[in-house]
Amino acid sequence: MSISIRRFPYPFQAMLAICSDLDGTPDGHVYFSMMRYLNTFEDTPFGSGIGLEIGNSIYFNVASPQFCYWNTSDVGRAMARRLIRSGHIDCLHSFGSRATTRADAARALEELEKHNCLLQVWVDHAKVPTNFGSDVTAGTGDIPGSLAYHADLTTSYGIQYVWRGRVTSIIGQNIQRNFRGIASIAHPLASCKTLVKEFAKGLSSSTQYTMNRNNELIRNTYLRNGSKVKEFLRFNPYWGGINIGATADILPEVLTTRTLNWLIKKEGCSVLYTHLGRAIDPQHPFSPRTKVSLSLLSEYTTQGKILVTTTRRLLDYCLAVKKVQFSVSPLKEITRIDITKDQTDPPLDGLTMYVQDPARTKVYMNNCEIQNLQKNAPDHTGRPSISLPWQKLTFPPIEEVPHA
Ligand SMILES: [Zn+2]
Repeated sequence: MSISIRRFPYPFQAMLAICSDLDGTPDGHVYFSMMRYLNTFEDTPFGSGIGLEIGNSIYFNVASPQFCYWNTSDVGRAMARRLIRSGHIDCLHSFGSRATTRADAARALEELEKHNCLLQVWVDHAKVPTNFGSDVTAGTGDIPGSLAYHADLTTSYGIQYVWRGRVTSIIGQNIQRNFRGIASIAHPLASCKTLVKEFAKGLSSSTQYTMNRNNELIRNTYLRNGSKVKEFLRFNPYWGGINIGATADILPEVLTTRTLNWLIKKEGCSVLYTHLGRAIDPQHPFSPRTKVSLSLLSEYTTQGKILVTTTRRLLDYCLAVKKVQFSVSPLKEITRIDITKDQTDPPLDGLTMYVQDPARTKVYMNNCEIQNLQKNAPDHTGRPSISLPWQKLTFPPIEEVPHA
């Protein structure tokens, strides 16, 4: 039997990141309570946590009274830094609507670097000046000489992945484009409109829809200053339209058994476009129905069906699986797998390989044997496998958090 890479870490059959733009989050107290509810099993102001792994985004200058790095208190800033270092804040959502110059960007990046806080994912916000997009999220952040030019600073700081407004209704990327899951019998007109819109993106020859046409999650591309980046696509399959579906209140219509089962059936990986702070009651963004849908997702993870993780980790994983180089030496008693990995390559956490006999397989990374190799029973395909461990991020203990 030949050795092959399993699409997802064992035993999962799909992967999902909930990539939430923080727009509308009123303050540090709500921001932190949301994070704790999503990422721990602790008692929180929103009820018992659901223990998933869901990241968040941050920006620096926006109009008060919304949560952002410079508007919040010292306590709020320390909390944000702690969550960046733990990996739970993983996206820079532009520098904010009030950041208009290179100096604004430089000040934010200096602050992050001073505190050893690395963010690798950039997500454009609305149509603010520091954006990288040229169409949907038009900005001038990557045009040398413009007032808001910062792409050189931001990429040397560490941003690798960028989102420039590319969205799709299709459930599951890196698989064949399929329109199932968008149409809703209960809402024939509205869902038909959403479907036609997505269908048209596939027919259009515009470069704006290249990622839609290929249904690709990540692609190599360049910013307008020549910086090489990886651009990613987000999805939201709401029948009433992507933008309307991207809120906490509509989440129950998005995280349905139909969506989740389809993602599994097609073995897709996807990054959800949403704003978890956008709700009718911003002080309590998770309605009872929203909580039910989040609990449903949590069950799918506990049952080993969908691996839910942060945007950065999902993108890293998809890239790592594509890039990984290995060789196989069948020895007398064992099979030896040698993986070569550069320091700049993304982490191989969770990498799973189908093998003949897990007990008789050894894996070496750059000539060092991996000691904590996980040996897996046959999965739904009937094949046994071995995995490099996938550790859940540790939610940090934070002594002082912003008051309500
Ligand atoms: Zn935004």
